[in-house]
Amino acid sequence: MYNPEVHIQEPASSWIPDPERTRSVLRSSGIGVWELNLCRLDSAWTPETFELFGMEPADRLVALPEILARIHPADVTRVQAAVDVARVVPIDLEYRILLDCGATRHVRSRMVSDGRHRPGTVTGIIEDITERRTLERQLREGQERYESLKKYNPNGICSLDLHGQITDANQAFERMTGYTLDEWRCLPLFNTLFLPQDAEWAEAAFFNRLVENVETRVRHRDGHTTDVAVTSVPMVVDGRRIGFYIMLQDISQRKRVECELRTTQRLYQMISMNALDVIARSDASGRVIYISPSVTPVLGYRPEELVGQEFSHLFHPEDWPTVAALGERLVAGEDVERFTARVVTKDGGLRWCETTLRVARDLSGRLLEVVGVSRDVSETIQLRESFEHAAEIARLGHWTWDAETHSLSLSRQMCVNLGLPAETGTLTAKRLRPIVHPEDLPGVVSDFREVIRAGDTFHRVLRVLLPDGAVRYLECQGEVMRGGEGEVVRVMGTTQDVTDRKQAEETIMKAEKLSAVGQLAAGIAHEIRNPLTALKGFTQLLAKRADTDSQRYFRIMQDELSRIERIVNEMLLLAKPQATAYRVLHLQPLVAEVVALLEPEALMNGVHVHIADAPALPPVEGDPGQLKQVWINIVKNAIEAMPGGGHVDVRCGTDPTVREAWVEVADDGPGIAADRLSQLGTPFFSTKEKGTGLGMMVSRRIVEQHAGRLEVQSAVGVGTTVRVTLPAYRGTGA
Ligand code: ADP
Ligand code: MG
Repeated sequence: MYNPEVHIQEPASSWIPDPERTRSVLRSSGIGVWELNLCRLDSAWTPETFELFGMEPADRLVALPEILARIHPADVTRVQAAVDVARVVPIDLEYRILLDCGATRHVRSRMVSDGRHRPGTVTGIIEDITERRTLERQLREGQERYESLKKYNPNGICSLDLHGQITDANQAFERMTGYTLDEWRCLPLFNTLFLPQDAEWAEAAFFNRLVENVETRVRHRDGHTTDVAVTSVPMVVDGRRIGFYIMLQDISQRKRVECELRTTQRLYQMISMNALDVIARSDASGRVIYISPSVTPVLGYRPEELVGQEFSHLFHPEDWPTVAALGERLVAGEDVERFTARVVTKDGGLRWCETTLRVARDLSGRLLEVVGVSRDVSETIQLRESFEHAAEIARLGHWTWDAETHSLSLSRQMCVNLGLPAETGTLTAKRLRPIVHPEDLPGVVSDFREVIRAGDTFHRVLRVLLPDGAVRYLECQGEVMRGGEGEVVRVMGTTQDVTDRKQAEETIMKAEKLSAVGQLAAGIAHEIRNPLTALKGFTQLLAKRADTDSQRYFRIMQDELSRIERIVNEMLLLAKPQATAYRVLHLQPLVAEVVALLEPEALMNGVHVHIADAPALPPVEGDPGQLKQVWINIVKNAIEAMPGGGHVDVRCGTDPTVREAWVEVADDGPGIAADRLSQLGTPFFSTKEKGTGLGMMVSRRIVEQHAGRLEVQSAVGVGTTVRVTLPAYRGTGA
């Protein structure tokens, strides 16, 4: 900025030196002389004046307009005013000249008027002060820059005199200490700023030597302290020390970060040294830069054996291509997070390792380094394999329903359970529908919806239709996995084929039904037997008194009552299996007795009963009364099956290897059709007018209670064979 100053000065002295000497002095100092004629409005210049105006020196007068044209337009008025003043008193003026080359020159002119000797003229000297102005400006700017540097510096800065008294402080210093500059002027610096243990040391240090970046703490007015790095700079003027600056750099943030970094480093070191997982770092070319000591217990190598090696040496040759492909993907910029592969141990063994990767890249995405954390998962994999094997044996399928895709992932066994190819993998709900039995489908769907809406577990048995038309029972259990906001993420579960168990249940129920029938029968039989005895007695009594016509009806009544009595007796036998008296006995004489008992009835029906010769049977243990009842039932059935006569063959035998004895009753009667054969032994199944349909059932019961078997073979038109097999008696020691 051009800021001319006008100085009004005293008139010059009247002493005039030698003009030639004056001229040479002016020339050597570059000062121009001029004289303006106020009447003619032109000016006479020395060569130096021409040069100052950037013109060639010439022996001529310069017209005033020409001069004014070369003066900076902003200064012209001031120059004209100064000339007017100079006619009265000498004046100093600074103004700017525009050079032909376009540059600006700062000049200073002193103008005087010598009205006595040269009236009507103003004389002056002119000198170039451009350089001085520039220096001044630079100095001012430097000062300003310094001031703003101090003012806005984030570091606290204060200046002290040699007595240690604060003379200036910036805003940051005020902020850091909590006192204003005015307050500081009245405070002892060292005792206020530093902690008591530091004050003395600091004072000595600042006065005696340079302090550079010394880390300490300074106190704030409110009592808290700040970590700072302190630097002192001497304030030197003209080579003399007049005081010093103190600079406080707030390093609390750095301190905190350093502290955190140290903790992190220690933690990292601790993890890396002690982890069971192996931590490894690799450069972009796949070479080991670092591997943690845990590699020794896991793989047998010492870390220094592996550093510098290529990772390819470590993996099983079959798995290396997959791992190498992952490496290429990393180099290509993709982020691979995890893989599992077999690693070769030092002694040549193999371990399954699961590795999690973290990748460091530069700003352009180029791969710098890969950090991998590997875990030995061999046991987990073995466990998974044996679990899968166990699941297969148990026919336990596993499934996961994904809430996002609405699809089911199925384990191999699960596919088998559903009658699908084992490698089906996933299934949509739509494809599952036709597999579920139509009667179970609505229940399954509503159960599943309900559990997703508000439940956590799911359990039900359902039927599925296999492609071959068979029906299988599956027991399904599921568990709902929910996210942070209660939304369903997936449902996981197992499914077990329980068809066999169900069938064994469909058998147990039959047995239970039978025992229920038995108990019922016992109750009824007891209730019936007593009134029956009365009825029978009174009917006989009345029959004696009745006339001949009525006699016929009484006979029918008596027949019917006998029939009721037979049924009741058989029912009682059925219900009283506990009334047994076991002993060791021989079957042949027992069967012979039964045959002898039934012989008259057989003869009446024209049936011939024959007992075949047989080697001696081993003795059996049993209740002779009950066993007799068995053969009475069987032989009677044979006789009754052949009202028109026929043959009954009774055969005995033994199987020494399994130590069993058997008795077979074979007839050549009409036989039993296949559909009826399956019903044989069902209570009240009888094809006879006078039959009870309980004989076979009772017999089978008795035989089974003797740990034996009753088997019926029959062919329509050929005959029926009923075989009873009983275990041989093993003696008291067995
Ligand atoms: P019931 O003799 O009172 O009819 P069972 O239980 O003894 O009752 O026999 C049931 C049915 O089995 C008989 O009614 C008959 O139809 C059939 N059955 C049993 N044994 C024979 C046989 N040897 N030949 C043909 N059918 C038989
Ligand atoms: Mg019978």
